[in-house]
Amino acid sequence: MSSASASNDALPPPQSSALPPSHGTPNANSRDTPDCSPSELPSSDTSKVLPQRKPLLRLELRDLSSDGSRAFLRLIHASHALQDAVDAVLRYLYKDMHASSIPPTRSITLVIRDLEGVAYTTGLELDDDHKEIHFSTQHIMRIPESQQKEETLGVIVHEMVHCWQHSGFGTAPVGLTEGVADWVRLKAGYAPPHWKQHTDCDWDAGYERTGYFLEYLEKEHGADVVRRINDAMRGCNYDADKVWKGCCGKGVEELWKEYKKSVDTAKSEVSGQEKSDDKTEETSEGEAEEKSEDKTQEEDKDASEVQQLPLYEEDKTPREKARRGGNMHVPIRPGASS
Ligand SMILES: [Zn+2]
Repeated sequence: MSSASASNDALPPPQSSALPPSHGTPNANSRDTPDCSPSELPSSDTSKVLPQRKPLLRLELRDLSSDGSRAFLRLIHASHALQDAVDAVLRYLYKDMHASSIPPTRSITLVIRDLEGVAYTTGLELDDDHKEIHFSTQHIMRIPESQQKEETLGVIVHEMVHCWQHSGFGTAPVGLTEGVADWVRLKAGYAPPHWKQHTDCDWDAGYERTGYFLEYLEKEHGADVVRRINDAMRGCNYDADKVWKGCCGKGVEELWKEYKKSVDTAKSEVSGQEKSDDKTEETSEGEAEEKSEDKTQEEDKDASEVQQLPLYEEDKTPREKARRGGNMHVPIRPGASS
């Protein structure tokens, strides 16, 4: 077997050439198992991922005649989209990490089909190293046309994270693994317009709620903190102390309180700034009031549009909905309920 750090151009595309992690050869910049010491890794989106992985990428269209399939083919260059998603996931979760820390995912099949909800990822029953991302044609058609491409690429990146992330053998809070998936989506530049930072929930509410929390931790505890959190869930069950105290020096509840305080402070500063801007405008009080009312209505309208935008299915029993054979790895995305 050749080393996983073998140069990319020596590999025939798109054969499965990703190797089991035990055979990976650490590269010069590799780290040992996470020591969780504070470190600042240079972060560059254009930097090369070492080692690269070239899993077999496949596309399956179950119904070419559906509008969703047609829109997908019109908007997305599937091989580029899948490879770019693989590269983004490896860059954000494994840059400068040991080759052995990357799961041995060998193939990823994107299945475009009629499906309730948005998407889910599963491993094949006989071999979990082969992943399938099931993507809903219904979902594609629910998205406003102007957002279809970005949304589709964003969902692919999110699901691709599930093909490669660690989850403490499935014992990690689902909100954390979903948060990591949306954090990568955020970092890759595919945050949908309705996403925002929330403080009215728990840290493990998942998706962008936890994703933005992780983004905050990155600023406070080092650019590689999510990589260390992900790695702390490798090869062992989820251990809250190992993950949070080990990587950030504090318990997650304390970190969440600090995050909420930071978001609320930033919000109140912005609203204070807006108020002071309003006052300095040379309008009469009446006009200013009118403006302020217009603004509120506009904001409400935006919010209601987001509510109505059926981006994601409500997350009532996603695992049940997604359980369609195979070892279902990740549930359908939940509703963009706010
Ligand atoms: Zn997910």
